[in-house]
Amino acid sequence: MMNGTATQNPPSPPLSTSTPNGTNPALRETTSIAVIGGGIIGLITALGLLHRGFNVTVYERAAKLTETSAGFSFNAVAREAMEYISPRVREALRKVAAPNEYPFIRYFDGYTEGVSDPLWQIPAERPDYHGCLRAAFLEALGAEVPEGALKFGMGLEGYEEVGEKVELRFGDGSVVKVDAVIGCDGIKSRTRQVMIGESDPAALPGFTKMVAYRAVIPLEAVVAAMGEDKGYSHCLHVGPGAYTVTYPIANNTLTNMILFCKTSTAWPDTNKLLATCLRSTAQEAISTWKPDVRGVVDLLPETPNKWAIFDMSDHPAKSYTRGRVCVAGDAAHASTPFLASGAAMGVEDAAVLATTLETALSRPSTGKPGEKTAAIEAAFRAFSALRIERSQMVVRYSREVGEMCMWQNEEIGRDPERCFQEIWRRYCDVWEFDVQEMVESARRECTVVLEGNPKDRT
Ligand SMILES: Cc1cc2nc3c(=O)[nH]c(=O)nc-3n(C[C@H](O)[C@H](O)[C@H](O)COP(=O)(O)OP(=O)(O)OC[C@H]3O[C@@H](n4cnc5c(N)ncnc54)[C@H](O)[C@@H]3O)c2cc1C
Repeated sequence: MMNGTATQNPPSPPLSTSTPNGTNPALRETTSIAVIGGGIIGLITALGLLHRGFNVTVYERAAKLTETSAGFSFNAVAREAMEYISPRVREALRKVAAPNEYPFIRYFDGYTEGVSDPLWQIPAERPDYHGCLRAAFLEALGAEVPEGALKFGMGLEGYEEVGEKVELRFGDGSVVKVDAVIGCDGIKSRTRQVMIGESDPAALPGFTKMVAYRAVIPLEAVVAAMGEDKGYSHCLHVGPGAYTVTYPIANNTLTNMILFCKTSTAWPDTNKLLATCLRSTAQEAISTWKPDVRGVVDLLPETPNKWAIFDMSDHPAKSYTRGRVCVAGDAAHASTPFLASGAAMGVEDAAVLATTLETALSRPSTGKPGEKTAAIEAAFRAFSALRIERSQMVVRYSREVGEMCMWQNEEIGRDPERCFQEIWRRYCDVWEFDVQEMVESARRECTVVLEGNPKDRT
């Protein structure tokens, strides 16, 4: 039983009992949805559902929208999915992101003296990345969420399905009753833990024994360290046990810089993804590398943030839903960042959720008991069935790409031709993807689940 001290319900949906042509209102109109987590995927998911007329509230644990000062980029598939989710989402990105101007993403050997030409390069138009500051994008998304639909200081502690409602219990003691829950509460998702059970190996992500040092640095300093050619373009420097990524953001005024490293030590506190460290720790990791790579790492602040890289590749979730609760984004399939596609997968999730919930709940209510419950469960099961294979493929591929860029794949080693082929193949699977087809499949899948309830659905 729950022992919350206060019960807070989201604003009531319009209480119309029939539409002007005499039919009952759509199920959607009386459905309340809680999105847990006001990160990038939580807000995008909420905006997609608000755009389709759902009654949505986002519950965020932090006291305000919080993001680290780091950059990231969205590929063309994710941007197309954003367009479909809601024009507001696409507009928020347009305000803060800019495309890569340099025509190639180049991979250099950061370690071997005398090898200065790129090992291989990828035409930038293929992923067509648009880079931005994470904090700026989150703020732009937050500005699109209507007043009252985003509640802060609401850390989910647990939930229970009681009758036709899901009762959410928050850290401040409040209890909220809703019809459906979408957990977008990130890699250490509490929603996932409760949904699949704390003893399930997929309840917690695993430490990959890789860490990242990240910083956003004035571009002119990077140009001074690496020269104009590299400073103004998207470059990766690969080598033994580490690699760097640098690319300009914020209209060529800043550089997003990441140094990824293997580590043999365990992460000290698995409840925290971030630790501060000394710049010298990062410098030591590449102390025998070429001067231009060392020069960029020297630009890290004196006490940079060190990020633990966790993922779910060892124990992927078998399903992204149970009952009227589902998980999306990192909460469902947390990935390493080596394919630069973790958030992109969450955006695709949001597009599918918008579609399946719309498909299942746009029909007029017949007033039959359990009708709404069945529709929500069908939407979530169709979502899970459609997303599980692709999103978990990306989790696996991402880990493999990181290992290849750090020359850790024993079979491929540092062979540039094989590295390129293996990495390119995996990238193409992410980039060559038809968003419209995904949306159509989501509609079909949802209709099949609604009508047929096939027993093998995840
Ligand atoms: C170094 C690095 C570089 C990356 N680069 C890219 C890139 O270029 N492109 C790309 O597509 N992806 C990239 N990614 C992946 C991307 O950052 C993640 O996939 C994305 O941020 C996940 O968003 P999310 O909203 O699912 O989770 P999060 O961003 O983790 O948000 C979760 C939210 O839930 C809140 N929360 C947590 N617990 C609770 C609770 N119990 N109750 C209520 N709220 C809660 C948190 O406060 C937070 O606001 C990168 C990742 C890393 C680490």
